[in-house]
Amino acid sequence: MQHNWSRYLRYIIGGLIGSTLVGLYFGEPVYGLTFGLIVYLWWTLVQARRLYQWLANPSATDEAPQSIGLWGDIFDNLHKLHQTHLRTQDRLRAQINRVQESTNAMRDGVIMTDSRGAMEWWNGSAEYLLGFRRNTDQGQYIHNLIRTPAFKTYFDSRNYREPLEIHSPAKPHIHLQIQISLFGDDDRLIVAKDVTRLYQLEQMRRDFVGNVSHEMRTPLTVISGYLETLVDNAADLPPKWRRAINTMAAQSSRMEALITDLILLSRIETGEQTVNDTLTDVDQLLAQICHDARALSGEKQHEITVHIGDYRLLKGDESQLRSAFSNLIFNAVKYTPANGQISVSWSTNREGAHLSVKDTGIGIDPVHIPRLTERFYRADPSRHKDTGGTGLGLAIVKHVLLNHDGNLEIRSRIGEGSEFICHFPRERLVERIPEKAES
Ligand code: ADP
Repeated sequence: MQHNWSRYLRYIIGGLIGSTLVGLYFGEPVYGLTFGLIVYLWWTLVQARRLYQWLANPSATDEAPQSIGLWGDIFDNLHKLHQTHLRTQDRLRAQINRVQESTNAMRDGVIMTDSRGAMEWWNGSAEYLLGFRRNTDQGQYIHNLIRTPAFKTYFDSRNYREPLEIHSPAKPHIHLQIQISLFGDDDRLIVAKDVTRLYQLEQMRRDFVGNVSHEMRTPLTVISGYLETLVDNAADLPPKWRRAINTMAAQSSRMEALITDLILLSRIETGEQTVNDTLTDVDQLLAQICHDARALSGEKQHEITVHIGDYRLLKGDESQLRSAFSNLIFNAVKYTPANGQISVSWSTNREGAHLSVKDTGIGIDPVHIPRLTERFYRADPSRHKDTGGTGLGLAIVKHVLLNHDGNLEIRSRIGEGSEFICHFPRERLVERIPEKAES
């Protein structure tokens, strides 16, 4: 290239010297040089115009303009660049087509939006599952088309670790699981999965457990009633029957507790709607629960302290919160040896509100912690034979917190006590309306 450039420079200078010499021959070297320069300028302008026209519409003709010398090289090189660019473009287009074809073949709906939710592209399944229309919905904001408030909150939250489940806006019988991923310049890739079948199975399971528990409750109440009468009159019974009756009474009251918890759990799992309508006075609620906890502690004489750091109200269902908090506090009583300490504290900070229940009890091996909220999971079954627990307490806590957009944190070590913390989002705190002074 360098070599060609100096050659071309030599040609130009040679041409100008030649025209000057011809001018000199006629006695006017300056005219000769001027003529040479004008001819060169004209040639350059003609070539520049050809280049300009070609660049304005390079696809009109496959061939680049032909020329000689410096301009010939420029045209050839530009033509090569253009061809490479076209080939890359073709390859990319083929790749995009392939990705779009494969995404179109997916059963899941796939949607791409920009950071504000303007829809850029979506596949055929998204049209079927969510009712989008190719011609009219391009560029529309997705939350105008999926109007469920939970979706807008989820989209804006930027926290997409857990998927969101909603009903399809176009076909309410379809239940969708939405998962969003961030990519590129804060753009969103939204995948909508049809989980109707799973949802129905889950619903059937809940209904089944709820119904069976309900059906079992009545006969069990009758059995427990008779057993209680027998226990009350145990003195009249032969000694060999006394032990049997006492054991039966203890087991039937355990079964009653189990059924009460199962019914509560299935109610909590389905009763999300009441959560946003009521306000709970956590201060009062904790005072009542700790009063009951002291009674439960009885001879074990635990030192139970309550600390309230914020007197605002908590937006949430009081009976659900009562179940959750009392499960944690009663567990602390159950799993803490006599004279242990249990501290309950309600505090708030920038992240939200937190209820901590800390005990100096037997503690839990950290390997069990991730599974503790599963139904009937017990850290060490041999240790809990006499606690009378149902194994559903922490499952209830987890579901109550899910209903309240919160989560449960468990910190514990064997022999070093445990701390259970319920985290609630800040938005759930509501100022108390000052009561009017009595006149
Ligand atoms: P349970 O009715 O058995 O108490 P939960 O669901 O309330 O069932 O608790 C699950 C398990 O977690 C318990 O069996 C126990 O092993 C463990 N656990 C819960 N709370 C505590 C605590 N405060 N200290 C030690 N272990 C606990």
